[in-house]
Amino acid sequence: MEPNRLTIHELQERLRDGSLTSAEVTESVYRRIASLEERVHAYITLTEEAATQQACAADKLIRAGTGGPLTGIPIAIKDVLCTQGVRTTCGSRILEDFVPPYDATVVRKLKDAGAVFVGKTNMDEFAMGSSTETSRFGITKNPWDLERIPGGSSGGSAAAVAADECMASLGTDTGGSIRQPAALCGVVGLKPTYGRVSRFGMVAFASSLDQIGPITKDVEDCAIMMNAISGHDTSDATSVPTKVPDYRACLSRDIEGWTVGIPKEYFVEGVDPEIRASIDTAIKTLEGLGARCLDVSLPHTEYCIATYYIIAPSEASSNLARFDGVRYGFRAPDGESLLDMYKKTRSSGFGAEVKRRIMIGTYSLSSGYYDAYYKKASQVRALIRDDFDRAFTKCDVVLTPTTPTPAFRIGEKMDDPLQMYLYDIFTLSTNLAGVPGISVPCGYTKGGLPIGVQFMAGQFQEEKLLQVPSAYEKNSALEKRKPDL
Ligand code: GLN
Repeated sequence: MEPNRLTIHELQERLRDGSLTSAEVTESVYRRIASLEERVHAYITLTEEAATQQACAADKLIRAGTGGPLTGIPIAIKDVLCTQGVRTTCGSRILEDFVPPYDATVVRKLKDAGAVFVGKTNMDEFAMGSSTETSRFGITKNPWDLERIPGGSSGGSAAAVAADECMASLGTDTGGSIRQPAALCGVVGLKPTYGRVSRFGMVAFASSLDQIGPITKDVEDCAIMMNAISGHDTSDATSVPTKVPDYRACLSRDIEGWTVGIPKEYFVEGVDPEIRASIDTAIKTLEGLGARCLDVSLPHTEYCIATYYIIAPSEASSNLARFDGVRYGFRAPDGESLLDMYKKTRSSGFGAEVKRRIMIGTYSLSSGYYDAYYKKASQVRALIRDDFDRAFTKCDVVLTPTTPTPAFRIGEKMDDPLQMYLYDIFTLSTNLAGVPGISVPCGYTKGGLPIGVQFMAGQFQEEKLLQVPSAYEKNSALEKRKPDL
């Protein structure tokens, strides 16, 4: 088997026993990239030269027996995370040539753990979107069907993992952007609890919702990545100083007697019948392992989209005010005055979806409207959070579909923003509630498109969130497939 197809844990073993070197693995990853990128386009920027050096350095450490948990493992980074000396575009014209002078904390942590950096992955502009179609740098294709979207906004990160163009990647999730593309590309994606992972060096979209998390080939790899990136950081005041457990250690425990809540609000009309059937099979598998599945209710679910699409754009309009052509990034060359330069820079630097969000957000924060929109949305958000608190007094984890349908066709929803927004119906709630969520593969449609099941848990209960899917993954009859590229 080509080394690029391995998981992190398989590779760790092969590197340790000397049957593979990081240089060989890294080379096989770039060979794969060279043969595929024209069709898949998962990356915006590749860093092959630096990666080759990192791999050689890693091999020395491994030979000396002093490597870290990720030493020599090729990993890709979503282009919204700052990387020192490597341009970080956020998929936008306005940051097309922006080269950060520092690393995001998660990037530094991966470096400390020994990772090799493959490149920066494609994304919807400023992470606003569900399909990676709003990127300034072209569309990423779903490796399972090149006429379909890979999901978004971390579509490049998910496609790169699914197509074996890296071992694992980092994504960000403000309303589903890790879990949704993971589901559509047939891989695992975890959004941690708000505060679990430092966001220092992540270009902010909506600060009360944003989280960084891993996209991986299986649950064990997800635990390995979580071990590497979790923890308190004095540079991010919202990161929480609670102890980080060993996420990998919990994977082998069984789930006999555990309770899995099934919220009826997520099994509504509009869920594709093939998705429904795969989810039902997953539920049966869990019951077969001794878990007890019971009905729970998250009664304010129907307000999630409306609430999210006030809060996220409001915070975005404030966060994106810094892109004014003065301090960094693109500046329109022909401004006649300072104000004119601002206007021209922002009108031509941002794409249509980003401008739409800035306008919605500015409107809902403006005096006279604030109480009716932002304040109201914040109050409803508290009710949504209460729903989860109540549900988790009855069950260990909640199980839902990750998406209502499998990957849709490129272009299908681009002219209808509301349809695009509705697609995130099952993933927004965890961000509003601040709880963690994971999507794991649970089936394929007749046409061969992957289907994901989502698990959610209480705040800082990532162990449960890995343990249940891990038991499921090990015991389900689902065959392991790879896209045929
Ligand atoms: N699709 C949602 C949006 O466009 C969520 C994006 C995200 O999680 N970054 O806002």
